[in-house]
Parts: sequence; C-alpha cells; structure tokens
Amino acid sequence: MSTTNSESSRDFIRDIINEDLRTDKYGGRVHTRFPPEPNGYLHLGHAKSICLNFGIAADFNGLCNLRFDDTNPIKEEQEYIDSIIEDVRWLGFDWGDRLYYASDYFEKMYEHALQLVKAGKSYVDELSPEEIRDYRGTLTEPGRQSPYRDRSVEESLDLFQRMRAGEFPDGSRVLRAKIDMASRNLNMRDPVMYRILHAEHPRTGGKWCIYPMYDWAHGLEDSIEGITHSICTLEFEDHRPLYDWFLDELGIYHPQQIEFARLNLTYTVLSKRMLLELVQGGYVSGWDDPRMPTISGLRRRGYTPESIRNFTRRIGVAKTASTIDIALLEHSLREDLNRHAQRVMAVLRPLRVVIENYPEGQVEEMDAVNNPEDPSLGTRKVPFSRVLYIERDDFREDPPSKFFRLAPGREVRLRYAYFITCVGVVKDEVNGEVIELRCTYDPATQGGDSPDGRKVKATLHWVSAEHALEAEVRLYEHLFSREDPTDVEAGADFKAYLNPNSLEVLTSCRVEPSLAGARPGGKYQFERQGYFCVDIYSSAGKIVFNRTVPLRDTWAKIEKQGDR
Ligand code: ATP
Ligand code: MG
Repeated sequence: MSTTNSESSRDFIRDIINEDLRTDKYGGRVHTRFPPEPNGYLHLGHAKSICLNFGIAADFNGLCNLRFDDTNPIKEEQEYIDSIIEDVRWLGFDWGDRLYYASDYFEKMYEHALQLVKAGKSYVDELSPEEIRDYRGTLTEPGRQSPYRDRSVEESLDLFQRMRAGEFPDGSRVLRAKIDMASRNLNMRDPVMYRILHAEHPRTGGKWCIYPMYDWAHGLEDSIEGITHSICTLEFEDHRPLYDWFLDELGIYHPQQIEFARLNLTYTVLSKRMLLELVQGGYVSGWDDPRMPTISGLRRRGYTPESIRNFTRRIGVAKTASTIDIALLEHSLREDLNRHAQRVMAVLRPLRVVIENYPEGQVEEMDAVNNPEDPSLGTRKVPFSRVLYIERDDFREDPPSKFFRLAPGREVRLRYAYFITCVGVVKDEVNGEVIELRCTYDPATQGGDSPDGRKVKATLHWVSAEHALEAEVRLYEHLFSREDPTDVEAGADFKAYLNPNSLEVLTSCRVEPSLAGARPGGKYQFERQGYFCVDIYSSAGKIVFNRTVPLRDTWAKIEKQGDR
C-alpha cells in the first residue's frame, strides 16, 4: 500500500488516512464511497465530494464505491439514478463492479434492527410525529420520555414485525433507538430508526412499507461494504456519536466517519432542494439548463471534466466552512479551454462592411491558426471576399479617446487578412442607425502586415458575408445577482435574487464556414470574445452555441492584485 507523497494534495483527511495506514488500523486498506441520494441531479458540491472520495481511493491504491442511498421512495426517481451514473462517469471516475444500492440491504438492516430490539436497545413508539417532535425538547431543555419507551421487548418485537407486515397506517408507529432523552446532543434523544411509509420504491417496488432513516441506514451501508473512511459534510458532525452508537451496539465492523466543509460558491445555490424548485417552477429550462450549477448544466454549458477536477483540487478540503469565488471556477475552465479549444472567428452582432476596391466575385483563402498554444493543431482556410461582417461594437462613428478600433478615416487590421480603412458610413434613412461601412483595403498588407512598417492599433475578427453560416448564440451571466442568494431579507426567498439578465439570445450571428462540421458539445474559442460550445440540441440546419465563459479573467486580476 502506497502513501501519498504529493504535497499539493495533502489535506487533513489524507493525513488521517496516512496515520491509519501507519498504525495498520484497517489492515492497509483504503475504501471510500460516494453515496448520493437519487432525489435530484448532482451539482458542483457533489463534484467536490466525488473528486475527494475517488481521488483518495486513487492516491492510496484503494477502492471507491458508487452507492445510491435510496431510502426515501417519495423523493427518489430512476431518472435521477441514471443522471448520477452518467455524471460520475463523465467526471472521469470508475467504480468498477461496485455500484451499490442501500435498498439492497433492507433485509439485512431489518435483521440488525431486530437485534437491537431484542437487546432492549430499541422500541416501537406510538406517539404521533408531532408529539415526538414536542417530546424531543430543545438545545436548552432536555427531552421527555415517551410513555411507550419502557414497553417490553416482546411487545416491541411483535409490533415491529407487524409494522413490516403492513398492519399499520403511515405515521402511526416508529421504531426508535433507546439512548438518552436528556442527551445534550439532540440526535441522541431516541432517534427514529424506521418509519411506516406505504410507498412504491423505484427498486424494491411494494416489498417494503417501513423505511430506514438516514442515520440508521448510513453506517450500516458503510459497514456492510467494508468502507474504511466514511467522508461526509460538516453538518453530520453532530450525527457521528449516533453513527458510532449504532455500530458499537451491533458489534459489527466499524468504519470511521470524517467530516469536511461543504462547497459554497458565490452567485450560486448548491442545494438539490433549491435547484429542484428552480426546475419545477420553470425558472430554468431544466436540470441541464446551462446556467445551473448541476454537472449536466455545466457539461451543456461547455465545462470540461478536467476543469472541474482542477477546480476541486485547487480549493482543497478543510474543516471550516467558506465560500469560494465563482471566478476561480471560471479561471480553471479558461485554463483548460485555452489549451484545447480551437480558435475560430464569429461575429455576434454583425455590421456589414463593403471593401470598395476589392474585386467583385474574388475569394481568397486566408490561413488561420487553429490554436496558438499548440502549433501541432495546424491551420485552416478562412474565405475572404468583398463583403464582410465585423462586430458592431468594433466600430464607432464618433470614437472616444481610448477607442482604437474602426472609425471613419481610421485604418485597422482584419485578422489573417488585410489592413482596411473606413471611408464611408451608410445609415438607415428612418432611424439613422449605421447599417453598412464602406472601406478600402491595402493589397500590400496581405497576411496582416504592412511592408512599409505602418502600424495599426487594432485587429478585428470578421467573416465573409457570402460564406458565413448563420447561428444562434446564447450568452449567459450568473444565475443570481446576489453573491449569497440564500442571504434573504425577512419574508423573501432566494428566487427573488435570480438575475433577470442571466440569458441573452442572439439570433443572427455569423460564424466562419469551418464550423459547418461542428458537433454538439464541440468547444471553440471565438477570437477576442470567449469560449463557446455547440449546444446538445443544436441541429445542422441552425447551429446553436452556448457561451461557456468570456475571455476576461477576473480571477487572474484578483490574483495579480494580491488580495487573495
Ligand atoms: P443537497 O443538500 O444538495 O441535497 P445532500 O448532501 O443532501 O445535498 P446527497 O445526495 O446526500 O446530497 O450527497 C451525496 C454526497 O455529496 C454526500 O456525501 C454529501 O455530503 C456530498 N455533498 C453534497 N453537497 C455537497 C457540497 N455542497 N459540498 C461538498 N459535498 C457535498
Ligand atoms: Mg440529503
């Protein structure tokens, strides 16, 4: 068994594991699991947990299971199971033949429950759910014992078996652990282990009408699978004594629970419940809306698995909660796309340009570099002709002092092509809007340099009007306009901070003809603008691009200013 020696990936969890290996606590084994409840799609917070659990297994030559914690049939669906499998695989992780379901252990869990009842450590309670809550007490007041707490083992055994047999209606009885109603830890005040729920389960169908509660089920799942380190988020720290109590009372194999701080990200909510609310309320187009922080949304937006893995490596794991700047996520993305995305020219808001001295009908094929970061990716041909489109923003009739792009009388470079000079402006007769520029070109500047050493201050991207393809481009901004959307005023709701400008659709964009072969998911840098990818629902008839992220990098700026 190897121990990790890469300093960059040291953290308090890996330190614990190294120590356990040194003391031979688990016979040299490292076995983790990622245990999603299939009640929604996975989000970036889950990605952190996935990278951590599978990453640790890889670092220590161990194993990581994918396990569905499918103990609540009311909220769980096959669609979620399928999406989770797809997402974990897409992130680049492999669970081998260890895909498990908590529901496969229901029989075993039931037997363990019988064991606790027989040992007098568990009893059937007939208080209503409201009464149980009421009897539980508060942080400052001890709880009260249920009148059913001291019923005989035989009676509890009989009732629990009849609960399973379906004799009682939902909510009429529960099985509880008999621990301590005065404990300072509320989780130890006789927690519920089983509730009655006459509900169809996606996998076990109608076989069960009692379902185990999380705290009871989770440790058993870990124990059954021989997990060594059960890594979970900080809110379960107060549940650890209960995790330990169940396993100790049963006297079965006992993994170690370790808690870390969950990921929070600015301008984002990472909670399946809230994300479900956005989907169900129609605030987004679905779980895979490219503005969603779900893995499927990020994938559709153009994120790469590498960029997400690098992001989670960068943020590391800690024991204290913090909120990560979303600019860091975008920085990790740009870094990866910069290396791999092919450069192309695309005009999002087209302005027509006629080169008056360029021969009608002539077409030249200009050589354009595919990726300056990787010369081995070579060049492609981009057609140039008399009528072009440039970006509307690249022209100002009355340029302010720092505007160096095209203006009347000014010369600029067209990338990979020629210097052009604006010699006239055509306007709409009704509204006065500029609808066309008249320009001339200097044939001596072919390729983009002037033999007489003349300099220009700007290089513009362009497409040939006759050759360009029409495309729709969707521009995205943060889904929320507030850094912490859950920080709400009284009476308000996180949805009040949805950013009304999070989606802008541009329908008459023009892209260079090489994009005719672009496949859904294909990733490109539109020169000078940002990274874009072909939407999964794009068709050959009309290409749809999602803007993955603009080029400007606020994180790089933050780092430069040194205020990290
Ligand atoms: P949510 O609050 O979104 O419903 P959850 O914790 O209830 O999330 P589970 O399906 O139970 O969702 O989570 C599976 C695993 O992912 C758990 O181990 C959980 O701790 C971890 N996880 C969930 N959210 C985050 C997060 N924001 N950061 C890190 N890990 C997370
Ligand atoms: Mg949960």
